[in-house]
Amino acid sequence: MERRNSTILGIDLGGTKILSAVIDQEGRIIARDHSVTPAQLGPEAVIGAVIESVHSCLDQISLPVESLEAIGVGAPGPSNPETGILFTSPNLPGWLNVPIRDIIRDAFKIDTFLINDANAAAVGEHMYGAGKGTNHFIYVTVSTGIGGGVIIDGRLLTGAIGTAGELGHMVIDHNGPPCHCGNRGCWETLASGTALARFARERIRDGSRTSLLDHAAGNIQEITAKTVQEAAAAGDNLAKELIEQTGYFLGVGLTNLVNIFNPEVIAIGGGVALIGDMLFAPAFDVVKTRAFRSSCEAVRFVPAALGRNSGVIGSAAHALRKIRDTSSFSCK
Ligand SMILES: [Zn+2]
Repeated sequence: MERRNSTILGIDLGGTKILSAVIDQEGRIIARDHSVTPAQLGPEAVIGAVIESVHSCLDQISLPVESLEAIGVGAPGPSNPETGILFTSPNLPGWLNVPIRDIIRDAFKIDTFLINDANAAAVGEHMYGAGKGTNHFIYVTVSTGIGGGVIIDGRLLTGAIGTAGELGHMVIDHNGPPCHCGNRGCWETLASGTALARFARERIRDGSRTSLLDHAAGNIQEITAKTVQEAAAAGDNLAKELIEQTGYFLGVGLTNLVNIFNPEVIAIGGGVALIGDMLFAPAFDVVKTRAFRSSCEAVRFVPAALGRNSGVIGSAAHALRKIRDTSSFSCK
């Protein structure tokens, strides 16, 4: 079968923004569109905005839609990649069992594939970023929540109905803080940016001595992970302690990943990862002292390489991989 020089379109549908990008088969972005998600207006309006974003992306390089080899949609919530249905989304109100893959496919008459956004980023990093060339790779993003994806034997771990890889919901403390998923003590209730800010607010309410409020214009509700990072950089002891605690919990989760999956590389991205050494030194200490020695010696921790584009590149990469999978058949 003759192979064209592929152009694939990736869509990174988020709760606040829609990113569309045309990429080539080397993962390079040829055109990119960024727009706001009208999340509050419901599924129809959001899908309309996605379609508009795709058109504006293609218009930038005057590429006719028929030239695309495939479209990949990364969506923020549990979905079944086989049926193309997004079950629900914590970031998109009103979405329930939406057949988003088929809607997009019917709009453009191009093969379309659906993937969870965090899994998309994992595929993107695996094909074109920090995990390139590895067979056993894990991507972890630490931001408001914790997400990621697991690549085993070169393939994304999807599970029975496509919802595998919810790394942020592994239980770290069975009596821990309640999680929006209904469980308690999930990794993201202890080691995400939201958790860091929540712990800071709790400690201020308990009367701890800290300059944290000065970094948030005196308003406790304004405290974010970034506020804690700034206060720590300015020498605030409570802020330093809280980042160390977040690093500790980060390390406990990473230890589980090392022991369960024996990965070659774990790439860590997301806004909270930008805190750097102050967070990672305690995290890696935990991994070093608690993980199986042999598995620990086999893994490398690296920063994610694709930044904010990991989702959109990954959605396209996922579509490319799917097309290649199904087009590799030969009667020769
Ligand atoms: Zn949870």
